Amino acid sequence: MNTMSDHYERVKIELQQMKAVESEAAADEEQLSPASVSSVPAEASFAARRDLSRSSINGRSRSKSRSKADGHERQVNGKLMSDLTPQKSDYSQEKGQSRASNEQNIKGTLRLLKGKTAANGHVDSCQRQTEGKCDYRGKEDGSKLAKKRRAVTVDTSKAKTSLEALKMSIRQLKWKEFPIGRRTACDIYWHGVSFHDNENIVSGQVNKFPGMIEMLRKINLSRAVRTMQELFPEEYNFYPRSWILPEEYQLFSTQIRLLKDNDSTLKPTFIVKPDSGSQGDGIYLIRDPADLRAISGSQIKQAVVQEYIQKPLLIDKLKFDIRLYVLVRSLEPLEIYIAKEGLSRFCTEPYQEPSQKNLSHVFMHLTNYSLNVHSGNFVHSDSCSTGSKRTFSSVLYRIASKGVDIKKVWSDIIALVIKTVIALVPELKVYYQADIPPGKPGPTCFQILGFDILLMKNLKPVLLEVNANPSMRIEHEQEVSPGVYEYVPSPVDEEVKVGVIRDTLRLMDPAQRKHHVTSNMGGGSPEEAIAVETGSDEKESLMDSLPTLCLKQVFPKYNKQFNNLRVVERIAAIFLRFLGVKGTMKLGPTGFRTFTRNCKLSNSSFSMASVDILYIDITRRWAGMLPDSREAGMCLQAFIEAFFYLAARRFKAVPLRDQVLLLLEVCEGALEGQSHSEKPRPRRSQPTQSSAPNTFSSPALTRRHHLRQQPMQLSAKANTEN
Ligand code: ADP
Repeated sequence: MNTMSDHYERVKIELQQMKAVESEAAADEEQLSPASVSSVPAEASFAARRDLSRSSINGRSRSKSRSKADGHERQVNGKLMSDLTPQKSDYSQEKGQSRASNEQNIKGTLRLLKGKTAANGHVDSCQRQTEGKCDYRGKEDGSKLAKKRRAVTVDTSKAKTSLEALKMSIRQLKWKEFPIGRRTACDIYWHGVSFHDNENIVSGQVNKFPGMIEMLRKINLSRAVRTMQELFPEEYNFYPRSWILPEEYQLFSTQIRLLKDNDSTLKPTFIVKPDSGSQGDGIYLIRDPADLRAISGSQIKQAVVQEYIQKPLLIDKLKFDIRLYVLVRSLEPLEIYIAKEGLSRFCTEPYQEPSQKNLSHVFMHLTNYSLNVHSGNFVHSDSCSTGSKRTFSSVLYRIASKGVDIKKVWSDIIALVIKTVIALVPELKVYYQADIPPGKPGPTCFQILGFDILLMKNLKPVLLEVNANPSMRIEHEQEVSPGVYEYVPSPVDEEVKVGVIRDTLRLMDPAQRKHHVTSNMGGGSPEEAIAVETGSDEKESLMDSLPTLCLKQVFPKYNKQFNNLRVVERIAAIFLRFLGVKGTMKLGPTGFRTFTRNCKLSNSSFSMASVDILYIDITRRWAGMLPDSREAGMCLQAFIEAFFYLAARRFKAVPLRDQVLLLLEVCEGALEGQSHSEKPRPRRSQPTQSSAPNTFSSPALTRRHHLRQQPMQLSAKANTEN
């Protein structure tokens, strides 16, 4: 209770300090209604709401009663390390170091995590709560400044459950909130669910990309990663081996039978995840493909069945996963930021490797907060380093104390994030062009994604899933007496999420962004970008009053190491070119013919009739795999398959990746020749034409096999060596 009163004390202080600014906001007439919420200081309304929730949620049913949108929202190399973790001199953790030096290193790690990573670029609210202090630096300077500077306007009317964290962020920035919308355009629109939450936006920036929800459904994510695995098997081995159901049930069955026949000691486990499920709903474990039939009967639903990672890293004997927040700031040019702080969600029953007996123990195998919160063992903690939900930095600190090289862990995670986004970008560009074709007025987009990552016992990060709508709630439900629940502030959530939203907003500040687009194309850190942009004294002192950004740019910063992976993006650029700008996502037979003709792919041995047959064959098969798709024609994934086929046909003797790169050269060369004679097309700030660099440089023709021809090895097996 102490902590709660400290929290309200802090709220009170902030409220007083904010009053001057808030009263100005209240006087503003641009709100859609005079009864606008902004006439009440937002902090006060939050506090009031919390009070209200204390008395009004009594007897509410558990979280299963959440609305659909709400549920959806919830669902829905050492080199890389230098910026995200402490410098080597501070905490270098070599295996075999003496205990004394280890302890010294841990202190260094702790200091740095507190000062840099743990604070996540904003005041550590956990620390504040325990120390009872409010030390938001330079607050008063900031208030004066906000009066002079035209505040950035944010429409929060569709923010849903991210509203409280968003309000706090806007207040910290001294920006202006429009809680029920505004007649004229806002600079930024914050949507709780999807790009389409508000269909009437023609300018500004919106925090969702069209198609992100669709792309991140389990089947589509698996497909996108698999395409990359076919081209770069080693680079994409961070995603567990997966099969798409029902279409690949036979393949799954056969492959596992072969595997077991070859090695009778092998006891793999698989996790079945419904395609559109979230929060652990509908997930179960099986030990044999036959179990799937036994459980789902003859009608196997759309799902992904995936190799279950049997040896996760444990802390206090518990399995945990990591939720990291990633900002895709733009698709073109591709810009990715990672939050220096994340969350670790713990299971509530000690972990044991899967056995027939424990397969159904969800509190042992699934780390979802939404499930474990209902276990009697769930620990809500005011500290960020204990309890069932902790900061990621506190976990890093724990494992650093055991001598683990956390620098390597971070750099592997950064690589995983960049590679995953690279896998998603091609199709996102197709969605983007369909919704906001070049020349049509529309907003530009950015999005915060929630990456769920598991650390294996050998510390290798594994991608579990990516959430298009990670929960940004900063309260949690607590049972105060039997059957009585209420929302109470969650310090660990506030610590992490407010920083992520606030710094996302800072990066999307229209003034900052304008400068960034023109001056920062070649990479560089966000801090540098902001420092350069703040020409006026006013802006400089506002920036001074804010903590260091908790979001760190990782792309294009590390583009040299990853640009060679952007092969499918080049195929997508060709697809988009022939798709045109009619708002469609599928290529018709004429478009496909024109592609083969313009790229000079048909000849005496591959006639136009063969082109048509190829189109029909592939399109028909994909139509069967995507039963809910309304539009007829060839989708991007089908086009990629056709492209791989054409590449394999033309360049028989080399591995798939080289075949594809060679065919890309042929196509891009032919199209470039033609475009010299064409008029330039209108460009938008986020055009859909690929800027993926031409990466072909006669790669060593190492023997790589097409994924389906590869002998299968499960990481569960590989992991037993560690
Ligand atoms: P959901 O969207 O329903 O949360 P996830 O893919 O995140 O689905 O899976 C739910 C939980 O199951 C994860 O948080 C993790 O604890 C566990 N899990 C998922 N995939 C695997 C896997 N391949 N190996 C081990 N555990 C997994």
